[in-house]
Amino acid sequence: MTFESLGLAPALLRALSEQNYINPTPIQSEAIPLALAGHDLLGGAQTGTGKTAAFGLPLLHRLATTPGNSQRKPRVLILAPTRELALQVSDSLRAYAKYLRINVHAIFGGAGMGPQLDALRRGVDVLVATPGRLIDHLERGSAKLDAVEVLVMDEADRMLDMGFLPAIKRILGRLPPQRQTLLFSATFEAQIKQLALEFMRNPQQVQI
Ligand code: AMP
Repeated sequence: MTFESLGLAPALLRALSEQNYINPTPIQSEAIPLALAGHDLLGGAQTGTGKTAAFGLPLLHRLATTPGNSQRKPRVLILAPTRELALQVSDSLRAYAKYLRINVHAIFGGAGMGPQLDALRRGVDVLVATPGRLIDHLERGSAKLDAVEVLVMDEADRMLDMGFLPAIKRILGRLPPQRQTLLFSATFEAQIKQLALEFMRNPQQVQI
């Protein structure tokens, strides 16, 4: 299988070939067609399997091929457990989006609010956030989630281990119910299954 045959936007294919991505990894081959078709996904995958591109490419394709909102409110929200993962995900997505006019920004705790407030004011298409700091922004009214079309929960099991379940539930309550939800986790304990049951619609499972 090739990235071309998955039907991704030419601007994405160009960035991928520049980064020497020749063939999709197994999780990418499985997840990308399902995500492009609009399904909710439950992905079982460890880091290092290519899961960032597995969720990142279909959501960037969607942003590239459908019109957005005029205020540049986030159309995609990606929740990640740590600052390190949030930065890693935003760096990867920015590289895939190199030839697109899509603004990717990460917000996380332990960093000043000023630059994050500026970025949100200027407009962010893909917001990558740790749950605690996102709650701070929601309380201040600086982050708006009413235009979110796709939610990704990355390393969901780690987020729950870190005690983020109440924050995640509050965030989920602020998202439009009409959205696509992609959840990635290395393990599927009862709490993750419950989260999927409560907040996802007929999720398709992809397992590596
Ligand atoms: P991830 O599991 O998303 O953290 O990705 C692990 C590493 O594999 C990262 O350095 C990616 O840039 C790289 N990678 C992901 N997908 C591919 C691919 N299809 N071809 C080559 N490298 C890839």
